[in-house]
Amino acid sequence: MPESDGSGKPIHAAFSVNLNLERAYMLRNSAGWIAEYQKKDAYWLHDGNSKRPHALLISGKHSNGFFNSRPVIADEPLLREAASDLVDLFIIKGGDIEHVDRVVGPQTGATKLAEFLSDEIGKRRKRPCHWASPAKQGEGELKAMVFNDPKHMVMPGERVLLCEDVLTTGGSVELTARAVKEKGGIILHIVLILVNRSGLVTAYDNLIVALIDRNMPTWEQAECPLCAAGSEAIRPKGIPEWARLNATY
Ligand SMILES: [Zn+2]
Repeated sequence: MPESDGSGKPIHAAFSVNLNLERAYMLRNSAGWIAEYQKKDAYWLHDGNSKRPHALLISGKHSNGFFNSRPVIADEPLLREAASDLVDLFIIKGGDIEHVDRVVGPQTGATKLAEFLSDEIGKRRKRPCHWASPAKQGEGELKAMVFNDPKHMVMPGERVLLCEDVLTTGGSVELTARAVKEKGGIILHIVLILVNRSGLVTAYDNLIVALIDRNMPTWEQAECPLCAAGSEAIRPKGIPEWARLNATY
């Protein structure tokens, strides 16, 4: 008997297997990860109520959402669980962990994530996986990612899996991919992300696979629809400001 979703139509076999994979191995679904990050005051999304203030980012732009990866990265057991779920998603999306020679994520937000993803891949296939974490250098046109740790260097011909803690514009992923190619590495076309706030589906031709996928657009003050609706923009990081963002209105 083919499996059914209750509509009377049989589910395509491969799709059904993927659903089972997700159920069997992932520790949390997207809602579960949002709840976990909310507990750490690391994740916030505006509910559309204009009495509620909205986020003024470090860049000076305004946004309906906020993700602070620092408390998430500092909790190493939780970050290992995130790495485990991202490896599951990589497999669900058709990735093969046998083909990953090295995981690369930019400093400093994705350094531990790259290391933990490589540990998780190595553990599952019982064969080590390498990692590396380039640093951003220069400004403007000269901005680039540079590998500066001789113990963690991309080697020519290596197949590289990219990762990032939070994807806002995709700019860091592009710089990281370029740095990997300059070293002769081959980019695997999936990039693993904790939180994709960009609204993008791909970054530098790589399929974005994220634990949390929520579009959190950013605006200049003059174009901010939340300001236009009468909501106040505030820095989200102070304790009273955080309380105001999360209060009942
Ligand atoms: Zn605004």
